[in-house]
Amino acid sequence: MEGSLHLEQYSQFVDKVLINEIYLRASSLNGIRVAHINTTAEGGGVAEILQSLIPIMQELGLNHTWEVIRLSDSSQKFMARLLDLLQGGELGVLPQEEQDAHIEELSHSLKPLREIQADVYVVHDFQLAPLAKLSHHIRPAIWFCHVDTANPNPESEKYIRQFLDAYDLYAFNSATSILKGLPQEDVQVISLGINPFSSKNMPLPQSEGLELLTQCKIDVTRPLITQVSRFGKWKNPWQAIDAYRLIKLQIPSVQLALVGAMQALDDVKSAEVLAGLKCYAEGDPDIYLLHDSTLIGEKEVNAFQSFSSVIFQRSSREGFGLTVTEAMWKKQPVVGTSATGLCRQIVHGQNGYIADETEKCANYAIKLIQNRELSHKLGKQAHVFVKNNFLVPMMILDYLKAISKVAKR
Ligand code: UDP
Repeated sequence: MEGSLHLEQYSQFVDKVLINEIYLRASSLNGIRVAHINTTAEGGGVAEILQSLIPIMQELGLNHTWEVIRLSDSSQKFMARLLDLLQGGELGVLPQEEQDAHIEELSHSLKPLREIQADVYVVHDFQLAPLAKLSHHIRPAIWFCHVDTANPNPESEKYIRQFLDAYDLYAFNSATSILKGLPQEDVQVISLGINPFSSKNMPLPQSEGLELLTQCKIDVTRPLITQVSRFGKWKNPWQAIDAYRLIKLQIPSVQLALVGAMQALDDVKSAEVLAGLKCYAEGDPDIYLLHDSTLIGEKEVNAFQSFSSVIFQRSSREGFGLTVTEAMWKKQPVVGTSATGLCRQIVHGQNGYIADETEKCANYAIKLIQNRELSHKLGKQAHVFVKNNFLVPMMILDYLKAISKVAKR
Protein backbone atom coordinates (compact mmCIF):
# COMPACT_ATOMS: atom_id res chain seq x y z
CA MET A 1 0.00 0.00 0.00
CA GLU A 2 1.17 3.52 -0.81
CA GLY A 3 1.72 5.81 2.18
CA SER A 4 -0.75 8.58 2.84
CA LEU A 5 0.72 12.07 2.59
CA HIS A 6 -2.16 13.50 4.57
CA LEU A 7 -1.62 10.98 7.34
CA GLU A 8 2.18 11.32 7.37
CA GLN A 9 1.79 15.03 8.13
CA TYR A 10 0.50 14.02 11.55
CA SER A 11 3.83 12.39 12.50
CA GLN A 12 4.84 15.74 13.99
CA PHE A 13 1.94 15.57 16.46
CA VAL A 14 1.10 11.94 17.15
CA ASP A 15 3.02 8.79 18.00
CA LYS A 16 4.40 6.80 15.07
CA VAL A 17 2.85 3.70 16.68
CA LEU A 18 -0.59 5.15 16.01
CA ILE A 19 0.21 5.94 12.40
CA ASN A 20 1.55 2.40 11.90
CA GLU A 21 -1.54 0.89 13.48
CA ILE A 22 -3.68 2.89 11.08
CA TYR A 23 -1.66 1.58 8.12
CA LEU A 24 -2.01 -1.95 9.38
CA ARG A 25 -5.76 -1.77 9.88
CA ALA A 26 -6.26 0.04 6.59
CA SER A 27 -4.26 -2.58 4.68
CA SER A 28 -6.64 -5.28 5.84
CA LEU A 29 -9.50 -3.21 4.42
CA ASN A 30 -7.79 -2.31 1.16
CA GLY A 31 -10.20 -1.86 -1.73
CA ILE A 32 -13.28 -1.76 0.45
CA ARG A 33 -16.00 0.68 -0.62
CA VAL A 34 -17.61 2.88 2.01
CA ALA A 35 -20.51 5.23 1.37
CA HIS A 36 -21.29 8.06 3.79
CA ILE A 37 -24.75 9.57 3.76
CA ASN A 38 -25.65 12.79 5.57
CA THR A 39 -27.80 15.89 5.10
CA THR A 40 -25.35 18.69 4.34
CA ALA A 41 -22.07 19.07 2.47
CA GLU A 42 -20.94 22.05 4.50
CA GLY A 43 -21.58 23.57 7.89
CA GLY A 44 -21.63 21.63 11.13
CA GLY A 45 -19.54 18.93 12.68
CA VAL A 46 -20.44 16.00 10.38
CA ALA A 47 -19.40 17.83 7.21
CA GLU A 48 -16.25 18.97 9.00
CA ILE A 49 -15.15 15.44 9.91
CA LEU A 50 -15.97 13.96 6.51
CA GLN A 51 -13.86 16.64 4.85
CA SER A 52 -10.89 15.59 6.99
CA LEU A 53 -11.51 11.86 6.90
CA ILE A 54 -12.23 11.10 3.26
CA PRO A 55 -8.96 12.33 1.64
CA ILE A 56 -6.94 10.17 4.04
CA MET A 57 -9.17 7.15 3.46
CA GLN A 58 -8.75 7.48 -0.28
CA GLU A 59 -4.98 7.58 0.11
CA LEU A 60 -5.13 4.51 2.32
CA GLY A 61 -6.90 2.55 -0.39
CA LEU A 62 -10.43 2.57 1.03
CA ASN A 63 -12.79 3.92 -1.59
CA HIS A 64 -15.12 6.47 -0.12
CA THR A 65 -18.16 8.20 -1.53
CA TRP A 66 -20.25 10.86 0.18
CA GLU A 67 -23.89 11.28 -0.67
CA VAL A 68 -25.89 14.24 0.61
CA ILE A 69 -29.64 13.99 1.02
CA ARG A 70 -31.14 17.44 1.38
CA LEU A 71 -34.29 17.60 3.41
CA SER A 72 -37.22 19.86 2.67
CA ASP A 73 -38.03 22.69 5.06
CA SER A 74 -40.97 20.80 6.50
CA SER A 75 -38.87 17.70 7.13
CA GLN A 76 -36.19 19.84 8.74
CA LYS A 77 -38.72 21.41 11.07
CA PHE A 78 -39.86 17.94 12.08
CA MET A 79 -36.22 16.97 12.59
CA ALA A 80 -35.57 20.03 14.74
CA ARG A 81 -38.39 18.88 17.00
CA LEU A 82 -37.07 15.32 17.01
CA LEU A 83 -33.61 16.61 17.95
CA ASP A 84 -35.08 18.54 20.89
CA LEU A 85 -36.79 15.42 22.16
CA LEU A 86 -33.89 13.06 21.52
CA GLN A 87 -31.61 15.30 23.54
CA GLY A 88 -34.02 15.17 26.43
CA GLY A 89 -36.50 17.98 25.71
CA GLU A 90 -39.60 17.32 27.75
CA LEU A 91 -42.18 19.10 25.69
CA GLY A 92 -43.27 18.42 22.16
CA VAL A 93 -44.86 15.69 20.14
CA LEU A 94 -44.06 13.94 16.89
CA PRO A 95 -47.37 14.03 15.01
CA GLN A 96 -48.03 10.90 12.96
CA GLU A 97 -48.65 12.88 9.77
CA GLU A 98 -45.23 14.56 10.05
CA GLN A 99 -43.55 11.21 10.69
CA ASP A 100 -45.25 9.82 7.59
CA ALA A 101 -44.29 12.82 5.47
CA HIS A 102 -40.63 12.47 6.49
CA ILE A 103 -40.58 8.76 5.65
CA GLU A 104 -42.29 9.49 2.35
CA GLU A 105 -39.63 12.09 1.56
CA LEU A 106 -36.78 9.73 2.46
CA SER A 107 -38.34 7.00 0.30
CA HIS A 108 -38.04 9.32 -2.69
CA SER A 109 -34.35 9.82 -2.02
CA LEU A 110 -33.59 6.10 -2.25
CA LYS A 111 -33.20 5.97 -6.01
CA PRO A 112 -29.77 7.67 -6.19
CA LEU A 113 -28.67 5.65 -3.18
CA ARG A 114 -29.44 2.41 -5.00
CA GLU A 115 -26.90 3.39 -7.61
CA ILE A 116 -24.12 3.38 -5.04
CA GLN A 117 -22.31 0.08 -4.73
CA ALA A 118 -20.66 -0.03 -1.32
CA ASP A 119 -19.46 -2.68 1.09
CA VAL A 120 -20.35 -0.56 4.11
CA TYR A 121 -22.83 2.31 4.44
CA VAL A 122 -22.45 4.93 7.13
CA VAL A 123 -25.67 6.80 7.81
CA HIS A 124 -25.15 9.96 9.83
CA ASP A 125 -27.45 11.21 12.50
CA PHE A 126 -31.08 10.96 13.47
CA GLN A 127 -32.43 12.67 10.33
CA LEU A 128 -31.55 9.72 8.15
CA ALA A 129 -31.90 6.88 10.65
CA PRO A 130 -34.87 5.33 8.75
CA LEU A 131 -32.79 4.77 5.59
CA ALA A 132 -31.45 1.27 6.32
CA LYS A 133 -34.92 0.00 7.18
CA LEU A 134 -36.37 1.61 4.07
CA SER A 135 -33.89 -0.02 1.72
CA HIS A 136 -32.22 -3.44 1.95
CA HIS A 137 -29.64 -2.07 -0.44
CA ILE A 138 -28.16 -0.03 2.41
CA ARG A 139 -26.46 -2.98 4.14
CA PRO A 140 -24.32 -3.59 6.03
CA ALA A 141 -24.81 -0.26 7.71
CA ILE A 142 -23.50 1.79 10.59
CA TRP A 143 -25.71 4.37 12.26
CA PHE A 144 -23.38 7.17 13.32
CA CYS A 145 -25.18 9.30 15.85
CA HIS A 146 -23.58 12.64 16.68
CA VAL A 147 -26.08 13.96 19.18
CA ASP A 148 -26.50 13.19 22.84
CA THR A 149 -29.12 10.44 23.08
CA ALA A 150 -28.30 9.27 26.61
CA ASN A 151 -31.56 10.61 28.09
CA PRO A 152 -34.12 10.93 25.32
CA ASN A 153 -37.74 11.81 25.78
CA PRO A 154 -39.68 8.47 25.59
CA GLU A 155 -41.67 9.43 22.51
CA SER A 156 -38.56 10.25 20.48
CA GLU A 157 -36.86 7.11 21.76
CA LYS A 158 -39.73 4.97 20.58
CA TYR A 159 -39.66 6.74 17.23
CA ILE A 160 -35.93 6.28 16.61
CA ARG A 161 -35.73 2.70 17.89
CA GLN A 162 -38.12 1.38 15.27
CA PHE A 163 -35.41 2.03 12.63
CA LEU A 164 -32.35 0.74 14.43
CA ASP A 165 -32.63 -3.03 13.99
CA ALA A 166 -31.59 -2.60 10.39
CA TYR A 167 -28.12 -1.45 11.46
CA ASP A 168 -25.12 -3.66 12.14
CA LEU A 169 -23.28 -1.18 14.33
CA TYR A 170 -24.11 1.98 16.28
CA ALA A 171 -21.43 4.64 16.60
CA PHE A 172 -21.49 7.52 19.09
CA ASN A 173 -19.07 10.36 19.78
CA SER A 174 -18.64 9.55 23.45
CA ALA A 175 -19.50 6.77 25.88
CA THR A 176 -21.83 9.10 27.75
CA SER A 177 -24.00 10.02 24.75
CA ILE A 178 -24.94 6.42 23.84
CA LEU A 179 -28.61 5.51 23.50
CA LYS A 180 -29.26 2.95 26.22
CA GLY A 181 -30.41 -0.60 25.56
CA LEU A 182 -28.48 -1.22 22.33
CA PRO A 183 -26.56 -4.53 22.24
CA GLN A 184 -23.21 -3.62 23.80
CA GLU A 185 -21.17 -5.60 21.28
CA ASP A 186 -22.72 -3.55 18.47
CA VAL A 187 -21.87 -0.16 19.93
CA GLN A 188 -18.66 1.66 19.17
CA VAL A 189 -17.39 5.04 20.33
CA ILE A 190 -15.73 7.04 17.58
CA SER A 191 -14.18 10.10 19.20
CA LEU A 192 -13.94 12.98 16.81
CA GLY A 193 -10.74 14.68 15.78
CA ILE A 194 -9.74 17.95 14.17
CA ASN A 195 -7.47 18.64 11.24
CA PRO A 196 -4.68 20.98 12.40
CA PHE A 197 -3.65 21.68 8.80
CA SER A 198 -6.93 23.26 7.71
CA SER A 199 -7.08 27.04 7.41
CA LYS A 200 -9.44 27.01 10.39
CA ASN A 201 -6.91 25.33 12.65
CA MET A 202 -3.50 26.34 11.30
CA PRO A 203 -1.45 28.82 13.34
CA LEU A 204 -2.52 32.31 12.32
CA PRO A 205 -0.06 35.19 12.74
CA GLN A 206 -1.33 37.56 15.41
CA SER A 207 -1.20 40.61 13.12
CA GLU A 208 -3.34 38.84 10.51
CA GLY A 209 -5.76 37.51 13.14
CA LEU A 210 -6.26 40.91 14.74
CA GLU A 211 -6.76 42.47 11.32
CA LEU A 212 -9.49 39.93 10.56
CA LEU A 213 -11.20 40.73 13.87
CA THR A 214 -10.94 44.45 13.14
CA GLN A 215 -12.64 43.85 9.80
CA CYS A 216 -15.51 42.33 11.79
CA LYS A 217 -15.67 45.63 13.72
CA ILE A 218 -14.24 44.14 16.92
CA ASP A 219 -12.16 46.53 19.01
CA VAL A 220 -9.02 44.44 19.45
CA THR A 221 -7.73 46.66 22.26
CA ARG A 222 -10.59 45.50 24.51
CA PRO A 223 -11.36 42.06 26.01
CA LEU A 224 -13.44 39.78 23.81
CA ILE A 225 -15.49 36.73 24.72
CA THR A 226 -16.50 34.44 21.85
CA GLN A 227 -18.81 31.52 21.30
CA VAL A 228 -18.53 29.90 17.87
CA SER A 229 -21.64 27.83 17.14
CA ARG A 230 -24.60 27.59 14.86
CA PHE A 231 -27.51 29.68 16.17
CA GLY A 232 -29.36 26.81 17.75
CA LYS A 233 -31.38 26.25 20.87
CA TRP A 234 -29.04 23.64 22.35
CA LYS A 235 -26.00 25.89 21.92
CA ASN A 236 -27.66 28.23 24.45
CA PRO A 237 -26.38 31.59 23.14
CA TRP A 238 -28.80 33.34 25.54
CA GLN A 239 -26.73 32.21 28.48
CA ALA A 240 -23.59 33.54 26.78
CA ILE A 241 -25.33 36.96 26.71
CA ASP A 242 -26.47 36.65 30.34
CA ALA A 243 -22.95 35.80 31.50
CA TYR A 244 -21.48 38.61 29.39
CA ARG A 245 -23.85 41.07 31.13
CA LEU A 246 -22.64 39.96 34.53
CA ILE A 247 -19.01 40.26 33.41
CA LYS A 248 -19.65 43.74 32.04
CA LEU A 249 -20.62 44.93 35.50
CA GLN A 250 -17.03 44.29 36.56
CA ILE A 251 -15.21 44.75 33.27
CA PRO A 252 -17.13 47.45 31.37
CA SER A 253 -14.92 47.26 28.27
CA VAL A 254 -15.76 43.59 27.54
CA GLN A 255 -17.27 42.59 24.18
CA LEU A 256 -19.12 39.43 23.15
CA ALA A 257 -19.06 37.76 19.72
CA LEU A 258 -21.50 35.01 18.84
CA VAL A 259 -20.17 33.54 15.63
CA GLY A 260 -22.63 31.33 13.76
CA ALA A 261 -22.00 32.01 10.13
CA MET A 262 -22.58 28.55 8.80
CA GLN A 263 -24.49 27.64 5.75
CA ALA A 264 -25.56 24.31 7.12
CA LEU A 265 -28.34 23.53 4.69
CA ASP A 266 -29.90 21.18 7.21
CA ASP A 267 -30.49 23.96 9.70
CA VAL A 268 -33.79 25.80 9.27
CA LYS A 269 -34.08 26.96 12.83
CA SER A 270 -31.04 29.25 12.93
CA ALA A 271 -32.79 32.26 11.40
CA GLU A 272 -35.48 32.04 14.05
CA VAL A 273 -32.94 31.80 16.89
CA LEU A 274 -30.92 34.67 15.43
CA ALA A 275 -33.96 36.93 15.22
CA GLY A 276 -34.76 36.16 18.86
CA LEU A 277 -31.17 36.89 19.88
CA LYS A 278 -31.21 40.27 18.15
CA CYS A 279 -34.06 41.27 20.47
CA TYR A 280 -32.33 39.67 23.45
CA ALA A 281 -29.17 41.71 22.80
CA GLU A 282 -31.27 44.89 23.06
CA GLY A 283 -29.10 46.84 20.65
CA ASP A 284 -25.98 46.52 22.84
CA PRO A 285 -23.18 47.71 20.51
CA ASP A 286 -20.68 45.42 22.24
CA ILE A 287 -22.60 42.26 21.31
CA TYR A 288 -21.73 41.02 17.84
CA LEU A 289 -24.02 38.49 16.20
CA LEU A 290 -22.02 37.29 13.22
CA HIS A 291 -24.02 35.24 10.78
CA ASP A 292 -22.97 36.25 7.27
CA SER A 293 -21.02 33.34 5.77
CA THR A 294 -19.70 35.57 2.98
CA LEU A 295 -17.84 37.56 5.67
CA ILE A 296 -16.99 34.82 8.15
CA GLY A 297 -15.03 31.96 6.64
CA GLU A 298 -12.55 29.47 8.07
CA LYS A 299 -9.82 32.07 8.68
CA GLU A 300 -12.16 34.40 10.51
CA VAL A 301 -13.32 31.53 12.74
CA ASN A 302 -9.64 30.79 13.34
CA ALA A 303 -9.04 34.44 14.31
CA PHE A 304 -11.94 34.47 16.78
CA GLN A 305 -10.86 31.18 18.33
CA SER A 306 -7.19 32.20 18.51
CA PHE A 307 -7.38 35.82 19.64
CA SER A 308 -10.39 36.12 21.92
CA SER A 309 -9.71 36.65 25.60
CA VAL A 310 -12.12 33.87 26.61
CA ILE A 311 -14.01 31.18 24.71
CA PHE A 312 -17.46 30.11 25.80
CA GLN A 313 -19.36 26.98 24.89
CA ARG A 314 -22.64 27.21 26.74
CA SER A 315 -24.37 24.22 25.11
CA SER A 316 -27.01 22.51 27.18
CA ARG A 317 -26.55 19.34 25.09
CA GLU A 318 -23.59 18.43 22.92
CA GLY A 319 -22.69 15.07 21.37
CA PHE A 320 -19.08 16.23 21.09
CA GLY A 321 -18.56 19.91 20.22
CA LEU A 322 -15.79 20.33 17.67
CA THR A 323 -15.76 24.08 18.30
CA VAL A 324 -14.33 23.33 21.74
CA THR A 325 -11.64 21.04 20.33
CA GLU A 326 -10.72 23.73 17.81
CA ALA A 327 -10.44 26.46 20.44
CA MET A 328 -8.46 24.24 22.81
CA TRP A 329 -6.06 23.39 20.01
CA LYS A 330 -5.45 27.15 19.74
CA LYS A 331 -4.40 27.19 23.39
CA GLN A 332 -7.66 28.59 24.70
CA PRO A 333 -9.21 27.36 27.93
CA VAL A 334 -12.95 27.02 27.27
CA VAL A 335 -15.65 27.86 29.81
CA GLY A 336 -18.07 25.08 28.97
CA THR A 337 -20.98 23.25 30.54
CA SER A 338 -21.44 19.71 31.79
CA ALA A 339 -22.96 18.64 28.43
CA THR A 340 -21.56 15.17 27.72
CA GLY A 341 -19.34 16.04 24.75
CA LEU A 342 -17.82 18.98 26.59
CA CYS A 343 -17.01 16.96 29.72
CA ARG A 344 -15.15 14.59 27.45
CA GLN A 345 -12.82 17.43 26.47
CA ILE A 346 -12.69 19.96 29.28
CA VAL A 347 -10.94 18.86 32.45
CA HIS A 348 -12.18 21.33 35.03
CA GLY A 349 -9.42 23.52 36.39
CA GLN A 350 -6.80 21.78 34.24
CA ASN A 351 -7.48 22.92 30.70
CA GLY A 352 -10.66 24.97 31.07
CA TYR A 353 -13.72 25.22 33.27
CA ILE A 354 -17.04 23.45 33.51
CA ALA A 355 -19.76 25.71 34.89
CA ASP A 356 -23.47 25.29 34.24
CA GLU A 357 -24.70 28.31 36.17
CA THR A 358 -24.51 31.74 34.56
CA GLU A 359 -22.86 33.36 37.56
CA LYS A 360 -20.17 30.71 37.87
CA CYS A 361 -19.49 30.94 34.15
CA ALA A 362 -19.12 34.73 34.45
CA ASN A 363 -16.77 34.36 37.40
CA TYR A 364 -14.49 31.97 35.53
CA ALA A 365 -14.44 34.29 32.54
CA ILE A 366 -13.50 37.25 34.76
CA LYS A 367 -10.73 35.16 36.30
CA LEU A 368 -9.35 34.28 32.87
CA ILE A 369 -9.57 37.86 31.60
CA GLN A 370 -7.85 39.25 34.67
CA ASN A 371 -5.24 36.55 35.08
CA ARG A 372 -3.61 36.09 31.69
CA GLU A 373 -0.88 33.91 33.13
CA LEU A 374 -3.48 31.42 34.36
CA SER A 375 -5.27 31.60 31.02
CA HIS A 376 -2.04 30.79 29.15
CA LYS A 377 -1.24 27.94 31.50
CA LEU A 378 -4.65 26.29 31.06
CA GLY A 379 -4.53 27.05 27.35
CA LYS A 380 -1.26 25.21 26.92
CA GLN A 381 -2.74 22.23 28.74
CA ALA A 382 -5.80 22.40 26.52
CA HIS A 383 -3.59 22.20 23.43
CA VAL A 384 -1.73 19.16 24.76
CA PHE A 385 -5.00 17.44 25.65
CA VAL A 386 -6.27 17.83 22.10
CA LYS A 387 -2.92 16.74 20.68
CA ASN A 388 -3.07 13.56 22.76
CA ASN A 389 -6.71 12.73 22.21
CA PHE A 390 -8.61 14.55 19.49
CA LEU A 391 -6.69 14.85 16.25
CA VAL A 392 -7.89 13.16 13.07
CA PRO A 393 -5.65 10.05 13.43
CA MET A 394 -7.30 9.06 16.74
CA MET A 395 -10.69 9.34 15.07
CA ILE A 396 -9.45 7.32 12.12
CA LEU A 397 -8.33 4.45 14.29
CA ASP A 398 -11.75 4.20 15.96
CA TYR A 399 -13.38 4.57 12.58
CA LEU A 400 -11.36 1.78 10.99
CA LYS A 401 -12.21 -0.50 13.90
CA ALA A 402 -15.89 0.20 13.26
CA ILE A 403 -15.57 -0.45 9.55
CA SER A 404 -13.69 -3.74 10.16
CA LYS A 405 -16.37 -4.97 12.55
CA VAL A 406 -19.09 -4.46 9.99
CA ALA A 407 -17.19 -5.42 6.87
CA LYS A 408 -16.18 -8.78 8.32
CA ARG A 409 -19.70 -9.99 8.87
N1 UDP B 1 -18.42 26.62 12.33
C1 UDP B 1 -17.98 27.40 11.30
N2 UDP B 1 -18.41 28.68 11.22
C2 UDP B 1 -19.23 29.23 12.14
C3 UDP B 1 -19.69 28.42 13.20
C4 UDP B 1 -19.26 27.10 13.27
O1 UDP B 1 -17.20 26.96 10.46
O2 UDP B 1 -19.57 30.41 12.02
C5 UDP B 1 -17.92 25.24 12.42
C6 UDP B 1 -17.09 25.01 13.68
O3 UDP B 1 -15.80 25.58 13.53
C7 UDP B 1 -17.13 23.49 13.80
C8 UDP B 1 -18.51 23.13 13.25
O4 UDP B 1 -18.96 24.29 12.50
O5 UDP B 1 -16.12 22.90 13.00
C9 UDP B 1 -19.52 22.88 14.36
O6 UDP B 1 -19.31 21.63 14.90
P1 UDP B 1 -19.80 21.24 16.36
O7 UDP B 1 -19.46 19.81 16.57
O8 UDP B 1 -19.24 22.19 17.37
O9 UDP B 1 -21.38 21.50 16.35
P2 UDP B 1 -22.59 21.04 15.39
O10 UDP B 1 -22.95 22.28 14.63
O11 UDP B 1 -22.16 19.90 14.54
O12 UDP B 1 -23.67 20.69 16.37
